[in-house]
Amino acid sequence: MTLPLIAIVGRPNVGKSTLFNRLAGKNRALVQATPGVTRDLHYAPVEFAGKRFMLVDTGGLSTEHTDALTHEVNLQVEFAIEEAAAIICLMDGRGGLNPEDEDVVDKLRRTKKNVFWAVNKIDAASLESLTFEFFRLGVEKLYSISAREKIGIKALMEDVVREFPEPESESDEEHESAERPVRVAFVGVPNVGKSSSINRILGEKRLIVSDLPGTTRDAIDVPFDLDGKPYVLIDTAGLRRKGKAGKYLEKLTAIKALQALDRTDIAVVLHEAGQPITDQTMRIISYAEERGRGVILALNKVDLAKTDKKWRRRIEDDLHRRLSGLEWIPVITMSARTGEGIQDLFSALSEVRENQLRRLQTGPLNRYLEGAVAHHGHPSAGSKPVKFYYMSQIKVRPPIFVVFTNRPAAIHFAYRRYLINRLRDVASFDGTPIRLIFKGRQRSDPDKT
Ligand code: GDP
Ligand code: GDP
Repeated sequence: MTLPLIAIVGRPNVGKSTLFNRLAGKNRALVQATPGVTRDLHYAPVEFAGKRFMLVDTGGLSTEHTDALTHEVNLQVEFAIEEAAAIICLMDGRGGLNPEDEDVVDKLRRTKKNVFWAVNKIDAASLESLTFEFFRLGVEKLYSISAREKIGIKALMEDVVREFPEPESESDEEHESAERPVRVAFVGVPNVGKSSSINRILGEKRLIVSDLPGTTRDAIDVPFDLDGKPYVLIDTAGLRRKGKAGKYLEKLTAIKALQALDRTDIAVVLHEAGQPITDQTMRIISYAEERGRGVILALNKVDLAKTDKKWRRRIEDDLHRRLSGLEWIPVITMSARTGEGIQDLFSALSEVRENQLRRLQTGPLNRYLEGAVAHHGHPSAGSKPVKFYYMSQIKVRPPIFVVFTNRPAAIHFAYRRYLINRLRDVASFDGTPIRLIFKGRQRSDPDKT
């Protein structure tokens, strides 16, 4: 399953973005934390009552400044019908029932989607009667909410997510050692070559795509084999649809990418060779990083790019600047058209898979910790020195290490980065994020917990 998508639909000014911000809260901030990334996000991965989903404020879909209200609303409805697992249709209790609401309701009701009808701006119990006239729409259940005053949102959302799947347990030990296929997703801006790359791999691997219905809304998994190990390509079918243009397609692609990343082991982020790296691409990379996924940056269409030395240096400089702090991401060049570099992509996939499952023994880990601390101790932070006792690895995919220290709260972020970088010198973790968790401990006795 990809991350289910919830669309908030409604006329302008009913409170869609207010509700979106209420629900997206800190997740929105997380996705926006990437430096240099624009702040016009209208979608965010959200967790509510233990269920994860992608929330979209459809008011942000239409980017043309147009007075054609119906055009905007139609675009929202069309999007919601095609993409969403659940739809929240928002109306304005203070503005009262509007002919346009009836239109929207009519269109939505003809879909087989789960639609939740909500009347917003009911800021107090005394205003409850404002919702009554909305029953004229003939809907069975109405939710009275106030996005601004945070009233009724919990009741609404509990119903919305009720049918959503429980999250798969992440990085479960047995799960990882089992022969479950490695999930790979190609992500990137429109026209970068995602479909072509998938077709190229299928060609190289001489695998025939079985006659899975190509019309389903959900992503289609395409199995292939690499060095005797099973892989699946997560193909986001929605991206194949033609006839969508411009900013809207770009947003759709970004949403799809984030949805796919949520159940991916390794993301192959495609980027056109020779072009500067865009915010959209950075956003995808940072989301993959945040979710602990493996990442490979593939510069595609290298057959079109100039390859003289000077050019290469300029491109590499741009890469270094944008990927500062992300030097662990392997970069390959390829051409889905000519097949050049496909073998490098395969090698990178195997290597990243190996690295994200790498497990370091406690002995070598603690020799590393001792060495790293001896070489460069934690800078003084107040009167008590920061001491490190021992560490162990608690998880794979991504590798997570616990470091026991007397003062976990005092660890400087630069020191965390130093330890991670040294760890990357000890063993190859190319292509995977690494996490360090600092825990408080008085003595260095590994047997006591
Ligand atoms: P959108 O165009 O549908 O995204 O609507 P906005 O979220 O931008 O909200 C439009 C206006 O309604 C803003 O002035 C909000 O402050 C206001 N608003 C949103 N939610 C509520 C609410 O629950 N109660 C009240 N009284 N006003 C609200
Ligand atoms: P998607 O939107 O990311 O799935 O991109 P497509 O795979 O549909 O490719 C978009 C366009 O770029 C098509 O015309 C492809 O033929 C072309 N294309 C894809 N990969 C390459 C490549 O490696 N070299 C060249 N020259 N063109 C490519």
